[in-house]
Amino acid sequence: MFLENTINRNEKRGWIEVVCGSMFSGKTEELIRRLKRAKFARQKVEIFKPKVDTRYSMEEVVSHDENAIMSTPVETAAAILLLTSGVDVVGIDEAQFFDLGLIEVCNKLASQGIRVIVAGLDMDYLGRPFGPIPGLMATAEYVTKVHAICVRCGNLANHSHRTGLGDKLVVLGETDMYEPLCRFCFAKARAQQKKGEKA
Ligand code: ZN
Repeated sequence: MFLENTINRNEKRGWIEVVCGSMFSGKTEELIRRLKRAKFARQKVEIFKPKVDTRYSMEEVVSHDENAIMSTPVETAAAILLLTSGVDVVGIDEAQFFDLGLIEVCNKLASQGIRVIVAGLDMDYLGRPFGPIPGLMATAEYVTKVHAICVRCGNLANHSHRTGLGDKLVVLGETDMYEPLCRFCFAKARAQQKKGEKA
C-alpha cells in the first residue's frame, strides 16, 4: 500500500504521485482513497478530469463501484493552473486524455508546493504508452502501478484489450468492449485479431 510523505508544515513542498494501470485495475478507487484521506485532514483538495470523459456524471470522478467524488471537467491541461490557487492537493483522473502540456502543468503545481495525484491508463488498447502518462511517470516522485486480473488465465493483467471493432483510441462509455489481459494472453488475443483482419 502507498504511504504518503510526511508534510513539512513550515515549508510547503509539493510532489507528484502517479497511479496507473489497465482498465479495471482500481486506479480511480486508489485516487479517491488518497483524496478522501487528504479531505479528512482538512486539506484543500481540487479534482479535475478532461472534458471528453462523460461516461457517468460531468461533476464527479466516478469509479466503477460508484464511490464518487466531486470534480471539475476542464478542456485543456493549462486550464488547471487557473483553478488551483490556495489548494493543497490536486487530483487528476483519466489523465491519459489530457494534452502533453499536463506534464509541465503538474510539475509547475508540485514546484508551487502542491501535492499532485494523477490517475490514468498507462497503455492504450494496442499496448502503446498513452498520452502524457509516460512523461508524468518519469517526472513523478512516486509511481504506483495497479493491476487488474487477467480474465483468461487469472494472472495479473496490465493490458486493456479491446474485444470490439473499430480503430478509435478509446471508445468512451464502452467499458464492456474491453477486457483486462496479462502480457501472454494479450499477445495471443492480438495475434488472433490480426488473423481475423486479414481473412
Ligand atoms: Zn492471462
